[in-house]
Amino acid sequence: MTQSLTGRVVVVTGGSKGIGRGIAQVFAEAGAKVAILARHADQAAAAAAAIGQGVIGLAGDVTSAASLRAGYAEVVRRLGTIDVLCANAGIFPQARLEEMTEAQWDEVSATNLKGTFLSVQAAIPYLKRSDQGRIIITSSITGPVTGYPGWTHYGATKAGQLGFMRTACIELAKYGITVNAVMPGNIITEGLAGMGAEYQASMAASIPLKRLGTVADIGHAALYFASKEAGYVTGQTIVVDGGQILPESLEALAQA
Ligand code: NAP
Repeated sequence: MTQSLTGRVVVVTGGSKGIGRGIAQVFAEAGAKVAILARHADQAAAAAAAIGQGVIGLAGDVTSAASLRAGYAEVVRRLGTIDVLCANAGIFPQARLEEMTEAQWDEVSATNLKGTFLSVQAAIPYLKRSDQGRIIITSSITGPVTGYPGWTHYGATKAGQLGFMRTACIELAKYGITVNAVMPGNIITEGLAGMGAEYQASMAASIPLKRLGTVADIGHAALYFASKEAGYVTGQTIVVDGGQILPESLEALAQA
């Protein structure tokens, strides 16, 4: 699709596993210089080594501004700059509303929503210097569009990321930086695999394309937003869910 990522420096938070790892792989294959950040530096380094192609893995905790500043500084020391931030790190522990503790709410908010703010804010000085500054946020269909029991806190953060994006993109437009979001449906990751074959099968049955998504499906959507060709697209979302949010009922699927 694009050769405009060749040599660009891309940071992927939460890139040691799952969707972030898929994003890192797709960008590396597109010729970008990729840095993976995660709390566990050993796992980030292992994922980077497995992808190869010069990808590096570093420690970086999105709940800590100091940790992000240190991580980004190390990226710049080793790769020269930062052109693209994929603010992807997120957690999704389940807790029913009636039993949810303040600590559970705060943990999810701190990582998913405040973590997005901190990741973006710390990257601005670098992105301002790029002629292709890009921010791509990993949101979800859960929250902005759909709901799922156990995820009131998670859904609120995923919807909150989009509210954050819609003002951030206006503030950063003067630097030529775009801010967009990918909204994945059910994507096969290590975490989702752990929810069991039955869960996966029932999810696949409710999706018009009859399969769960792959991490590469999300990586390619992020790659589009990061491309030179998407330079006039900002504050937008793309749902990547195999059509999951569209059927009005099970009957609508059965009749297809
Ligand atoms: P995952 O497989 O559990 O991976 C999460 C990644 O985030 C890991 O690399 C983890 O590494 C990192 N991480 C967690 N807390 C962090 C922190 N405080 N600072 C830095 N890194 C942190 O998750 P995933 O399923 O790929 O989800 C990734 C994103 O996609 C999330 O934002 C999630 O909301 C979104 N999403 C996922 C799905 C899906 O079906 N999987 C669907 C919609 C949206 P460490 O533990 O080492 O930090």
